[in-house]
Amino acid sequence: MTNRTITVTSPLFPSLEEFIPYLEDIWNRKWLTNNGYYHQKLEEALCEYLGVKYLSLFTNGTLPLITALQALRITGEVITTPFSFVATTHSLWWNGIKPVFTDIEPVTFNIDPDKIEAAITPRTTAIMPVHVYGNPCNTAQIQEIADKYGLKVIYDAAHVFGVTVNGKSVLEAGDMSTLSFHATKVYNTIEGGALICHDEQTKKRIDYLKNFGFAGETTVVAPGINGKMDEVRAAYGLLNLKQVDRAIEHRQQIANQYRQALKNVEGISFMEEIQGVHHNYSYFPIFVDTEKYGMTRDKLYFKMKDNNVLCRRYFYPLIRTFPTYRGLESARHENLPVATKVADNVICLPMYDRLSSNDIDKILNIITN
Ligand SMILES: *Cc1c(COP(=O)(O)O)cnc(C)c1O
Repeated sequence: MTNRTITVTSPLFPSLEEFIPYLEDIWNRKWLTNNGYYHQKLEEALCEYLGVKYLSLFTNGTLPLITALQALRITGEVITTPFSFVATTHSLWWNGIKPVFTDIEPVTFNIDPDKIEAAITPRTTAIMPVHVYGNPCNTAQIQEIADKYGLKVIYDAAHVFGVTVNGKSVLEAGDMSTLSFHATKVYNTIEGGALICHDEQTKKRIDYLKNFGFAGETTVVAPGINGKMDEVRAAYGLLNLKQVDRAIEHRQQIANQYRQALKNVEGISFMEEIQGVHHNYSYFPIFVDTEKYGMTRDKLYFKMKDNNVLCRRYFYPLIRTFPTYRGLESARHENLPVATKVADNVICLPMYDRLSSNDIDKILNIITN
């Protein structure tokens, strides 16, 4: 029993009994992809659940980033954060855009709006922030800067599924937001994702772009890509949507259990809930102060690993250190002191619906002893 491995995440599955009739229906319909019945149903259901008007499904969470940049015709330089999953920066690279990294805030670990203006050049066309760990960016201040300089804003919103601020969806901010429904996220369609925009015309353009640019049987309006979600995953996604609220509630209980146990541990800190924000508890990062805790982050990480608890050091190493990006002027270590420090001290603890109280006790025991 003590040898069972606890992973950092584990997918939320819909009930197999409920899924089988959906599969039978798909087999009967003989329609597998290209805006099918379940695809349309899931777009509608997600718009309603998330409180947004225009959402386009994708086959993963990276193609919406790439497509958003295409849809808005972004070129030149884009200001972004080095503290994210690599897909954020890769999407710029795939569009021939130069990423310009700015440092992050010490409390939310999101891009620091106060640092954005200094990074703007005549070639800057957009800002690509990330709502890291599900904590919303300072969207008002970012929009103010964007408006002042005529820049577009594309949010990588992969971590904020269902997150609201004062009852309003975080996905309303900026020109577009992208979601990932990868197996490891709060809500999954196995692989999947979505692009959220704010008007019908733009939604149409996005839908052309995710289908090779086809605007009709013989009309190709743009060099689009194949980003379409299939019927099987859309049906799976419809079923998973039914249980995501319950799963988020359970995640909240887990977060409370972690907080309660860790609040008195010298040298371990964690993020507090933000007033007015409905959180989704997508991640539970802790931060290790080596001196006070008496052990480095990596030592703790490997101690947990030796005890079959597989945590992740999200986001370490920083994107700026990868060969593709490390030559950039903005990737210099001195330019990104906060991001560097956070990346060197963070561990994300296991967080998922199936995590049991016993699992949590085991994890906490390793940290506190
Ligand atoms: C998961 C994730 C992505 C990529 O999504 P995929 O569905 O895996 O392509 C992009 N950005 C962030 C911040 C993510 O966490």
